Amino acid sequence: MNSPQLVRHPAPHPTECLHGYVLRLSELNGYASPRHLYHLAEMKPTEISPTSFALTKLATVTNQPQSRLQRIAVSPKGGDSREFYVLGKRVGIAYLNLTGARVCPECVAEKGYIEAHWHIDLMVACPIHERTAVWFCGKCRSRLSWNRPGLLTCKCGAPLSIYLREKYSETELWLLDLIRQKALGAVPHRPVDASLPGAQLATTTLQSLLSLIRVLGEQRLKACRSSNRPLGRDLLRAAASLFEKWPLNLQRHLRNISPHPSDDQSFSLSLDALSIQQAISERFALRRQKTQSTLKKEADTPRPTDHHQLSSKPHIVASSDLGTNAGPERCASTKSQQHTHPVRPQMDCDGE
Ligand SMILES: [Zn+2]
Ligand SMILES: [Zn+2]
Repeated sequence: MNSPQLVRHPAPHPTECLHGYVLRLSELNGYASPRHLYHLAEMKPTEISPTSFALTKLATVTNQPQSRLQRIAVSPKGGDSREFYVLGKRVGIAYLNLTGARVCPECVAEKGYIEAHWHIDLMVACPIHERTAVWFCGKCRSRLSWNRPGLLTCKCGAPLSIYLREKYSETELWLLDLIRQKALGAVPHRPVDASLPGAQLATTTLQSLLSLIRVLGEQRLKACRSSNRPLGRDLLRAAASLFEKWPLNLQRHLRNISPHPSDDQSFSLSLDALSIQQAISERFALRRQKTQSTLKKEADTPRPTDHHQLSSKPHIVASSDLGTNAGPERCASTKSQQHTHPVRPQMDCDGE
């Protein structure tokens, strides 16, 4: 291949994402979008997706070693398209956003490039600037595309300066900072509150942390019978409520599914998705056993007359024990508390 080199071809930053690097090069060379750069590199549309990115061709036009580009590419692990590497850290495809672009304009303005952690689906906000990430254009309302004129410019020409003004709790920001640290190998940006399990999660891998947040968030939303999607901000906020006052809120959550004799002893649950999933399953099994036992006792008891039944029968609603938790844990949505800073005094349903 004899593709000409780009006039300007600086090296990528070690924590930059590949598509952001291409966009930066495109802007530096005065192109209207990366399409021109791909054309120069003779890359076909099928050669720009993360699963089949033609690194060799990009290496030629940028005069960069392919290995350097490989390090910042979100690439599949071997032939398995369900698992990817983000800056060398394994992440399942279910936890990634590989299509739409997402960015914190303030980070880009300060650093001059887009960091790779924005490919992780849970990164809905920036823990440094405490603001929602931009993934829709405030002017044309289109999803932010990688094919745009510049790092901070939408394809419609509008600057990426309009964004949702949402307030994030300290725990949500701590979780976002933890994800960013683990993805980039960065130092913590935020201090860890003593009531959060910072030490327990210090050596957790990126994938384990993402799995843990998902398990806790899904469980919390289910327990509150929430119609919120187990995705993005809803998931993050729900999980955050179980990390707060560690481990009291999680203990209470388990106890509300079904009390267990071990509740009175010291809490020794490992902080990983599998252990928590097992603990939750055990509690639900215990609850089913108790329900069945109660129903059997009731069936064995001589039935009162219809008249007596109407006046004094203690009615047992078995269906409430078959699915999600409806115990005394506070699940009523208290919207006024959702933006309380820094740590809410009680668990709430986080519904919105
Ligand atoms: Zn930022
Ligand atoms: Zn736009």
